[in-house]
Amino acid sequence: LSERLQGTIAKIKGKGKVTEQDVKLMMREVRFALIEADVNLKVVKKFVKSVSERAVGSDVMQSLTPGQQVIKIVQEELTQLMGGEQSPVKFSTRPPTVIMMVGLQGAGKTTTTGKLANVLRKKYNKKPLLVAADVYRPAAVQQLQTLGKQLSIPVFDKGTDVSPVEIAREAIELAKEEHHDVVIIDTAGRLHIDEALMQELKDIRALKEPDEVFLVVDAMTGQDAVNVAESFNEAVGITGVVLTKLDGDTRGGAALSIRSVTEKPIKFVGMGEKMDALEPFHPERMAQRILGMGDVLSLIEKAQATVDADKAKELEEKFKTQSFTFDDFLDQMSQVKKMGPLEDIIKMIPGMNKVKGLDKMNFDDKQINHIEAIIQSMTIAERTNPEIINASRRKRISKGSGRSVQEVNRLIKQFDEMKKMMKQMSGLAGAPGAGKKKK
Ligand code: GDP
Ligand code: MG
Repeated sequence: LSERLQGTIAKIKGKGKVTEQDVKLMMREVRFALIEADVNLKVVKKFVKSVSERAVGSDVMQSLTPGQQVIKIVQEELTQLMGGEQSPVKFSTRPPTVIMMVGLQGAGKTTTTGKLANVLRKKYNKKPLLVAADVYRPAAVQQLQTLGKQLSIPVFDKGTDVSPVEIAREAIELAKEEHHDVVIIDTAGRLHIDEALMQELKDIRALKEPDEVFLVVDAMTGQDAVNVAESFNEAVGITGVVLTKLDGDTRGGAALSIRSVTEKPIKFVGMGEKMDALEPFHPERMAQRILGMGDVLSLIEKAQATVDADKAKELEEKFKTQSFTFDDFLDQMSQVKKMGPLEDIIKMIPGMNKVKGLDKMNFDDKQINHIEAIIQSMTIAERTNPEIINASRRKRISKGSGRSVQEVNRLIKQFDEMKKMMKQMSGLAGAPGAGKKKK
């Protein structure tokens, strides 16, 4: 999912102008990417529609960074699709809080029961009791016992001869007596949804209205996960979803569809087999991960807040007419400086956090100051007409700025490169069909 979307994003990101046609093309790519990732078709349609509506709005088209605006909208709508905000666990005001784990066989119920207990103890200071209510497979009871021992969390176990409903009832009683404030019931699963299982789950539910009924689904099963979620929600009623095996080779479509199909939040994601591999689900972070954007949105926001709009327009003109000078360069640098320490800004660029040794490199703002010093040592003629800067002028600039001649040379060379790049860029911007379309 990510790769395809990232490609599309790379295409649109740098666009100075975005036409309705651009948005259409991008939405087509987004649609493909989502379908390919196994996102429910209805969800895809709804998503594309709402992004398109917002993206062709006049605010976006007329903004200075329409490409980035469109991406921002995609990101916001993705976040919305996954529920908007992180959804916390609901605890009872009259303990014990009862949490039921339901789902198909192999989805990860038993594993997640252990992980959840671990999280609740660590982060919420709870004293959980685990309940082995999967009586159809002796191995299942054993599995929970093992996890309990590993975590030093007690497991209520009546073997496999007592009915799950009775086990759950006794466990809740015991929890009250022994002051366990959370009871997590690990129920049985089946390979497929069947009536008998649903009835059993409903009976356990009826004992004491659970505060949470978590459906555990395997993210690797894609569309199926969504169907399972829908069925369980209709038959038993769920309050939230735990999406497991997200560490695997999943296309991630389930994360996008489940919320909008069931209207129940994803509360946690399983990121591995170990007992600490359960994380709260953050829609916004997930959307960022899907888009592969790192912290790019905060970067965009920062840039928008600091870069003076009129100045940017003026610069754009200069790009086109090739009248960009060292003075403009200086101006641009001070805009960048306003955004904050260079080091922080660089860290926000996607992929940059993965570059090894970056943290050891010296991105301090001194470099900017040096460049400023060099430019300030140029005469007005030199700044507007860098071609005249010959060897003796370079020496003079070096002395005036206190920087080495090599540094002066490097800056002039970089400036040349930049101008060349601008020439290419403005050549593209002037291409036929790139202009803004009027509706
Ligand atoms: P249950 O039948 O629903 O109780 O499923 P289990 O808890 O027994 O899990 C089935 C298998 O999935 C086990 O091998 C688990 O280790 C594995 N599993 C569960 N959650 C995760 C996860 O988040 N990531 C990975 N990689 N494996 C998981
Ligand atoms: Mg199990």
